[in-house]
Amino acid sequence: MNTNEFRLQGYAMINRIAEYYEHIEKYPVLSQVAPGDIKKQLPENMPEQGEQFENIVQDIDSIIMPGITHWQHPCFMAMFPSNTSYPSILAELFSAGIGINAMFWNTSPAAAELEEQVLNWLRNAMGLPAEFQGVIHDTASTSTLTAIICAREKYAQYAINENGYSGFTNYTMYCSEQAHYSVEKGARAAGIGKAHVRKIITDADFAMDIQALENAIQNDIAMGKKPFMVIATLGTTNSLAFDPLLEIGLLCKKYDLWLHVDAAYAGSAFILPEYQYLLSGVVYADSFVMNAHKWLMTNFDCSCFYIKDTALLINTFTHNPDYINAAPDTEVRNYKDWGLPLGRRFRALKLWFVMRHYGLQGLQEILRNHMRTAESLYDQFTQNASWEIMAPFAMNVLCVRYKPDAHLTVSQLNALNENIISQINSGGKFYLTGTKLNGNSIIRIVPGQEHVVQQHTDALFDLLVNTAAEISAG
Ligand SMILES: *Cc1c(COP(=O)(O)O)cnc(C)c1O
Repeated sequence: MNTNEFRLQGYAMINRIAEYYEHIEKYPVLSQVAPGDIKKQLPENMPEQGEQFENIVQDIDSIIMPGITHWQHPCFMAMFPSNTSYPSILAELFSAGIGINAMFWNTSPAAAELEEQVLNWLRNAMGLPAEFQGVIHDTASTSTLTAIICAREKYAQYAINENGYSGFTNYTMYCSEQAHYSVEKGARAAGIGKAHVRKIITDADFAMDIQALENAIQNDIAMGKKPFMVIATLGTTNSLAFDPLLEIGLLCKKYDLWLHVDAAYAGSAFILPEYQYLLSGVVYADSFVMNAHKWLMTNFDCSCFYIKDTALLINTFTHNPDYINAAPDTEVRNYKDWGLPLGRRFRALKLWFVMRHYGLQGLQEILRNHMRTAESLYDQFTQNASWEIMAPFAMNVLCVRYKPDAHLTVSQLNALNENIISQINSGGKFYLTGTKLNGNSIIRIVPGQEHVVQQHTDALFDLLVNTAAEISAG
């Protein structure tokens, strides 16, 4: 492709994306294809000869789009949103355009210094202590794994890094039973082992029970174990519950444990001063993660990981083979030493575009609108006797259940609510996911796409009420 062709195809591609957004509501939110439908349209092997670019692009419509689930559709209310935005898309395009690899400072000083500075902006906006220094990882799963490995090396004084696990098989760590599964996955990958993750019971609000946490720590100490880390969740994935961070922090101080805070989703809302009270106790945290790629208009991937003791992080991960001539860490940031990968995408650019385009107030306004939209939906449910609210309503996450009749058993109610979700999803108008709380199947609703408004949630409420009534009538 020559430069002129690139220009023409590039303009056309931007046009295609703009049209996608203009008509996004015509698509079924959840892709309706069956397994294998896409793959069977793709040849066994790559083409021998290069093809016309137009032909490739045409296949986006014929092959790819039917197999797309539309995460940017305002009626995507499943899981958590993974927002993008026009400024973010353009920054990402530019980042791909210059094609850099931001391994260490010399490989693009601007990438390293911008990453440091935008993460400082975000830290200050969220009200995190100034000692926290940031790095952008791909996902919260990676950020939490990084924290677990750092905590492990802190207490092993780098002996596991050096010699492997021999003699260090008694480490135990703690999270609530509502913690994201990435915690357990990280413990498995870091060699701590699933059997050494204590899942602490939660209270009626699905927040970690602090007495049960202390009991578990004391019990492990009595058994000769070495408790080393607690992972507190601010905004659980199931119901957006908030663990009591201050009390957990005080326990971590008392028992000298690493405290990692998983605020992957709700972290975005800490740019709102009215939610920063939830961070009380964060002074005791050693590390913290939030995903800007969930609710902060920055396209995937952009997981912002903060740590206080950067020397510990760097000592854990640093590696300077002869083929890398990085400038000294005393003068610059070599982000290759702040986590597992050597090669790194230039992700700071999109965060910079987003923060400058919207400004703090613009981002705050978007989040507050989502919360108001969710609140109006919440009010509709509370006024309808056939629906129950199944968890404390926080921010923009609603957990509800249809219960038309007090005599239905739990398994009948579970089947009914799971059926409602699958009916809604196969209709294509909305995409919802369910989960279980205390064994009850619930419907989880998260209006969080940038352009979602009350008309969308009103339409969802009507659809839920009608679908539920139809299913109940059999
Ligand atoms: C989404 C989420 C994660 C995992 O995020 P990834 O970036 O997809 O790894 C972890 N913890 C919580 C609380 C989450 O909501």
